[in-house]
Amino acid sequence: MNDRVTPPAQLDTLVVGAGFSGIYSLHRLRSLGRTVHVVEADTDLGGVWFRNRYPGARCDIESVDYCYSFDPTIVAEWTWTERYPAQPEILRYINFVADRLDLRSGITFGTKVTELHWDDEASVWRARTDHGDTIVARTVIMASGQLSVPQLPAIAGIESFTGELLHTGAWPTEGVDLAGKRVGVIGTGSSGVQAVPQLAKQAEELFVFQRTAHYAIPARNRPLDPEYVADLKGRFEEYREIARHHPGGTHRVLGEESAHDVDPGALEETFRRHWNNGGPDILAAYRDFRTDEVAAEKAGAFVRERIREIVEDPETAEKLCPKGYPFGAKRLVLEIDYYTTFNRENVHLVDVAAAPIERIEGNEVVTTDGRYELDVLVTATGFDALTGPLFAIDLRGVGGQLLSDAWKDGPQTYIGVATHGFPNLFVVAGAGSPSVISNVLISIEQHVEWITDLVQHLFDHDLRRVEAGLEEQEAWTREVYDIASKTLFMKGNSWYLGANVPGKPRVFSLYLGGVGHYRDVCEKVAADGYAGFTLS
Ligand code: FAD
Ligand code: NAP
Repeated sequence: MNDRVTPPAQLDTLVVGAGFSGIYSLHRLRSLGRTVHVVEADTDLGGVWFRNRYPGARCDIESVDYCYSFDPTIVAEWTWTERYPAQPEILRYINFVADRLDLRSGITFGTKVTELHWDDEASVWRARTDHGDTIVARTVIMASGQLSVPQLPAIAGIESFTGELLHTGAWPTEGVDLAGKRVGVIGTGSSGVQAVPQLAKQAEELFVFQRTAHYAIPARNRPLDPEYVADLKGRFEEYREIARHHPGGTHRVLGEESAHDVDPGALEETFRRHWNNGGPDILAAYRDFRTDEVAAEKAGAFVRERIREIVEDPETAEKLCPKGYPFGAKRLVLEIDYYTTFNRENVHLVDVAAAPIERIEGNEVVTTDGRYELDVLVTATGFDALTGPLFAIDLRGVGGQLLSDAWKDGPQTYIGVATHGFPNLFVVAGAGSPSVISNVLISIEQHVEWITDLVQHLFDHDLRRVEAGLEEQEAWTREVYDIASKTLFMKGNSWYLGANVPGKPRVFSLYLGGVGHYRDVCEKVAADGYAGFTLS
């Protein structure tokens, strides 16, 4: 348990959030000699890895890529054990980094920033917390996360469920005992697919309420070979440099051929190789999988065939086969024992596309053709992504304008870092940047380094204010939306488009131009004296 540290009343920089983004921002600004402090709503470090403790929670980027690279000592001293690390190992890693760099003293835990108001006359941000703290900060870094606001499904009566109601993104720190219980899961995205096999082993009966079947590919997780890890550590900087300039921030090999130009035998061979090797790289097997529905369907059909082979009951198999949207249009899910779990006698797939959930009544999920009595209801229904954590704060810029008003039609950013009308405020790995469409750790390092360099530039040059230009912002936002409009992401009714939150604008606000290209853009802006920003 962390003792509550009262946040300083005056700061060069206030950082909101103590996940991967926040703790690196703290370390970097401390190293640059700035007064900096982090305010974190949770009682400890870790962000998503603190909260998403549901059984089965795991990374879908390989451990050797999903880590920091800024400190060679940390690279040397930490050793990953699995190809795709599980939540407890990632949480241990974040704590290891924070302890190694002595960061806890710079963090106030268990405290929410509730208000951030720009004072134009003094050129400072005035913050308030739910503990009544007031903080005046010259600059603010929003390290408040992309997927940090859990979203309950819009189902009548959900909040008054009389059994135990859980969300995968806010899993109790003390764990949950499911032995002998009737458990329901709503949601079959990444979280649901990871949780179902583990919940099935613990619960007496498990009911999986599926509205849309997601494409899931085997993770083929395995312990890491110590020799492989030692070799990577010996050349980590060189290894990482490749990822920094890769479109996805990884080492994924990008197919250059069109799936249309390959004969069926060769296609099958490629798909089988990816299926057997595991991981999401099949998405990049051919150059047109992101843009051409007919090409993507070749992989879609292959996955459905595998599902029909694995799942013994043909009716259940058919329901688990994703249909009606292109392969890759929703986030590709990595699975461990997901499909085989439906061969267990205590697991029941409930097709709520065919017979929708009408309401929750008492301890029952009521669909149009049945009632399911449950002790525990697990919602794996995702997050109010990207804008959720920002809009949860009373965040007002120049003239008292709310960020939620400025972004009412979707996020408006200049290079994904800043917004016109909100001077001296920067968002890490959020909308307008590659963010959750990349290896987020690569994107976080790049953003934190770029933003903290800009903060230091302000102080070095005795500048009070930096603000994104309106025209430049409009051009960047148009580019972000234009690139996305040519991809199949627009055809997946997913959280990427805000489709899971009633009333949210349907826009794809992540930058799909590639991590490497994005880095070049940001570097050029800085090299040109922060072109596109007004510094005064
Ligand atoms: P977060 O980890 O979300 O941390 C933000 C912090 O800000 C939280 O601790 C929150 O409490 C705090 N906060 C928010 N608002 C306030 C406020 N008003 N006041 C105080 N504190 C506040 N990415 C990948 O690249 N690969 C993966 O495999 C992957 N797996 C994921 C698995 C899950 C289950 C989830 C939910 C996300 C996953 N992600 C993955 C994306 C993940 O969001 C990033 O990888 C990364 O962990 C984000 O770090 P962060 O510090 O930016 O944000
Ligand atoms: P998600 O992808 O948004 O999936 C939510 C699920 O809930 C979908 O299956 C959705 O169905 C369903 N749902 C929502 N409302 C419903 C309702 N009223 N009735 C029935 N079903 C409903 O959320 P997530 O699985 O938590 O994943 C979110 C993101 O977090 C991922 O895409 C990924 O970026 C990250 N994540 C990563 C990992 C990992 O492997 N490393 C693990 C977990 C999360 P529809 O599809 O029909 O809307």
